[in-house]
Amino acid sequence: KMADKGVVKWTYSTCGYCSTGCSIEIGTNAQGQPVASRGVGGADVNRGKLCLKGIFEYEVFEATGRASRPMVRDTIHEAYAPTHWDTALDKMASEIKRIQAKYGQDSFAIVSTGQILTEEFYTLGKLVRGVIGTNNYDGNTTLCMASAVSGYKRSFGSDGPPGCYEDFEHTDCLIAWGSNLPEQHPIIYWRLKEALEKRKFPVIVVDPRVTIFAQNADIHLPITPGTDVVLQNALIHVIIKEGLEDRDYINANTNGFDELAKEVENYDPTSAAKICGIDEDTIRTVARLYGKAKRAMSIWTMGINQSTHGSDGVVGINNLNLVTGNIGKPGGTSLSITGQCNAMGTREWSSCSGLPGYRALEKPEDREEIAKFWGIDPEFFPKKRGLTETDIFPAIETGEIKGLWLVATNPMTSMANTPRIRKTLEKLECLVVQDAYYDVESSQYAHIFLPAGIWAEKEGVFTNTERRVNLTRQVKQPYAESKSDMQIFNELAKRFDNGKVIRFPERPADVFEEMKQLSKGRLCDISGMSHDLIEQKRGIQWPYSEEKVADNENGSQRLYTETATFCYPDGKAKLIPLPFINNNEIPDEQFPFWLNSGRLVEHWHTRTKTGKIGNNNKFSPIPFMEMNPDAADEMGIKHQTYVRVTSRRGDAVVMAMLTQRVPRNMVFIPFHFFDCVNRLTLGLLDPYSRQPAFKQSAVAIEHVDQD
Ligand code: SF4
Repeated sequence: KMADKGVVKWTYSTCGYCSTGCSIEIGTNAQGQPVASRGVGGADVNRGKLCLKGIFEYEVFEATGRASRPMVRDTIHEAYAPTHWDTALDKMASEIKRIQAKYGQDSFAIVSTGQILTEEFYTLGKLVRGVIGTNNYDGNTTLCMASAVSGYKRSFGSDGPPGCYEDFEHTDCLIAWGSNLPEQHPIIYWRLKEALEKRKFPVIVVDPRVTIFAQNADIHLPITPGTDVVLQNALIHVIIKEGLEDRDYINANTNGFDELAKEVENYDPTSAAKICGIDEDTIRTVARLYGKAKRAMSIWTMGINQSTHGSDGVVGINNLNLVTGNIGKPGGTSLSITGQCNAMGTREWSSCSGLPGYRALEKPEDREEIAKFWGIDPEFFPKKRGLTETDIFPAIETGEIKGLWLVATNPMTSMANTPRIRKTLEKLECLVVQDAYYDVESSQYAHIFLPAGIWAEKEGVFTNTERRVNLTRQVKQPYAESKSDMQIFNELAKRFDNGKVIRFPERPADVFEEMKQLSKGRLCDISGMSHDLIEQKRGIQWPYSEEKVADNENGSQRLYTETATFCYPDGKAKLIPLPFINNNEIPDEQFPFWLNSGRLVEHWHTRTKTGKIGNNNKFSPIPFMEMNPDAADEMGIKHQTYVRVTSRRGDAVVMAMLTQRVPRNMVFIPFHFFDCVNRLTLGLLDPYSRQPAFKQSAVAIEHVDQD
């Protein structure tokens, strides 16, 4: 088959879509054009398999909408004028300097992504902190992973997923919280199925929808949206009441048990059932399964993270695992399934609160160490924590921020409350959009557009959900006149005074060497890795120090072991009481349905790529809404007819798909489509992580007359 496609060369890479981190090879023909993709057989993660997105990933290189030249304009009401790179970058640098001189150093903000390479995140962090001199810099990962980061830090003293996919092969019980693996992470689901074929263990899925995962689970818990913490407290209540907690582990490894035990006293299954909607006998059954299992693990995705209780939901999962002694042993873990291919890269190497190698911006010793390493005055460093993406947009509304640079992210489609985001972007004095596709919706409001290369037009690494650093080699040069994101960062840096002082290596492998030095002795130690070794081993899990190379080890499957200490000064994890306060927008008479949103297997985020690939787009070319047939019947709504969905923010017209997947009081709309579900979402924020609650808004439905 590959001979038919004319493949003459295969190049090693890592899939640029989701955080599973599949090793992939891209086949190019004699003209150097990508014409095929295939999974890499010897890779630990995917063992030769790819999902629908990976199989057709070679088509993204030349998909419709690839941007070929930089473009500029003075106002957003004019047409863009194609221009040269020097003109675009000069204009960008002078706009940043003008805005900072007029309104202050922090009046220009940057929002990046989880899609670019780790060497690029590191370089962007250096540019933003060391050259532009602001900390109003965040990743769009605040929309998907911030609650996991916050929850890990609160429980264990540091971010960093403790487990790995191999844990499926050792566990005796698994709870999946708000995660639809078969659609969102199909290859991780395949790994789970493989483990289940070898050894049966109970799989419990907590999700208000009857997802494909829920359908295939042993027990489905159709929870009331936003009440996971209540269920977690009730499970711990039963575990303690029935003496199923692991006292030895608790005494040796945790603080705060008595306070937690006191709090969960309030969550007996009878009372909890009334709030979380799961009957009390089922709560007891699940608690016993988890408490009695020799090794038990929990995984979760956006159903936990995208909530006003997102951070608490993660802490609740950690509480459950710590009380049952399930952190640090094979098959016993809290594993957050990340979203984007390199969401972990932003966490390790830069974000609004972090400096490279999980250093903290708030710590003077960390700032001084990085300033010395980069060769700049520590006084230049922004010292206070910056704004998250979700706080940057309100700061534009109030006039605190006047300029914004978006790197491979598309808030016009991805942020909650689209009507408000549109007005916000229109207020900016300067918006720079850096993206591979000129038709990304946010570019409608940009003054400067910079065309960027996509994943395998560059070389560098991603970190996946299980801390595995994997490599992408360059398959081809960036499209037309576009440049790699790192080239763009480096060339912008030269236009600032500090940018002439700080070293910005041009080769990704040299940047990686710099990162290795900074990682030595840190939790995310990568000092034993090199691009070549990573390719040879098909990915290596951090921490991976030079000593591990000497011992010929493959990487660290687990972050903590039964004897290794957590990251708080006394080496113990924290058990944290979680009182539940209901603070969602709850359905009422005017807006009687819960609105839930999520992914489809064939699409990726805002469809800038998959919306143009025939084999992906043909399955779901238009937005739709899942609605329960009984609720639809009461309202005279028929299958595949159009309805208007209204919230307090706006409205959207979508096709109704009648299905038992959603309960009577809920509708579900995929989040991939422009001017659709996020016209309706409220996006209240989690107080710790500032992550929005995309899945808990209230809406009304009306039939649209089609005659
Ligand atoms: Fe790519 Fe994720 Fe599919 Fe693997 S599961 S091929 S990483 S999109």
